[in-house]
Amino acid sequence: MTVFDAPDFDDHEQVAFFSAPEAGLKAIIAIHSTALGPALGGCRVWPYTSDREALTDVLRLSRAMTYKHALAGTGQGGGKSVIIADSRTDKSAALLRAFGRCVDALGGRYIVAEDVGTSADDMAVVQSVTRHVAGLVDPSPVTAYGVFSGIKAAARHKLARDGLAGLKVAVQGVGHVGRALCGYLREAGAELFVTDIDPALVDRARADFAAQPAALDEIYDLEVDVFAPCALGGVLNDDTIPRLKAAIVAGAANNQLGLARHGAALAERGILYAPDYVINAGGIINISFEGASYDRDGAMKQTEGIYDTLMEVFGRAEADAAPTNEVADRMARERFAEAKATGSARAG
Ligand code: NAD
Repeated sequence: MTVFDAPDFDDHEQVAFFSAPEAGLKAIIAIHSTALGPALGGCRVWPYTSDREALTDVLRLSRAMTYKHALAGTGQGGGKSVIIADSRTDKSAALLRAFGRCVDALGGRYIVAEDVGTSADDMAVVQSVTRHVAGLVDPSPVTAYGVFSGIKAAARHKLARDGLAGLKVAVQGVGHVGRALCGYLREAGAELFVTDIDPALVDRARADFAAQPAALDEIYDLEVDVFAPCALGGVLNDDTIPRLKAAIVAGAANNQLGLARHGAALAERGILYAPDYVINAGGIINISFEGASYDRDGAMKQTEGIYDTLMEVFGRAEADAAPTNEVADRMARERFAEAKATGSARAG
């Protein structure tokens, strides 16, 4: 298996393979860039069917983290790690500690946090062997606040509205982020429509925020101003985009576009899309404020900056007649290339 020739290799600074058979550990840590600061990104535990599949994932995910950090101004670089294992059956304290020693061996160039297949509790185990770990504070409330700020920016740009009173918002998924988002929206006077595969969560949203329940598949067809995906990835695709009546798509879910071209499909329909990794950056902003003592106010204040970043994305997209996801990628590359050229870490 070659790394330098891999299709997703993008001049990553370092790709490290680790093995500890006594703990059942096979892991890859990819550092895409430390131009903006130490690489910070989650550890994914997934039963990849081949080393190649794991490598592809870690190369893609670590590069995406560079973009995300660049636009969030966290002063961190992009990195990610994968452990080839089934989180339900193979994850043990011994495996997590063995992995923590791998992170420690990189001397702080990579800081690990939770991701699919790992939890804050797992990070506490990793922390027993390395201090280069974050993600011990639940980021969901800050992520929700960032999405709320992003919806305000989108409403300003698309609908020329300064407040959200009376705005109709459909929230797909009322879990950690979706529920907290509903709280902010309700307080701002928005009218809410919610769906979730867990009926108890829908009932709670109905009771607490006067949200109107919608069937799982019906959420795409509602006559609303904003569609806020806060559950799964891939929900903006050839099937759903033609059905949307919303003028704005702005939500927390990762990887909302089925394919990159679906960004253009939304723009063609006149729907303003807030790129997922820009609007949901409150999570990593929160992690970057964990440090020795967690600074929640600092995290919330920086998260408010998502409003300005999105206004710039929307403005440039309009001026260039380009899809917002492409503009965001371009802006991230500019910021990251600038830092690389000056060779100095900056706070963005
Ligand atoms: P969560 O698991 O707490 O909530 C997701 C909710 O979506 C659950 O209640 C689940 O029942 C529901 N759901 C699942 N499939 C559904 C479907 N088909 N239709 C409707 N609802 C469905 O997760 P979360 O932490 O709230 O994160 C939500 C999304 O935001 C995820 O995509 C996550 O990757 C992304 N995200 C979260 C954070 C964070 O700080 N938690 C940060 C950045 C991005």
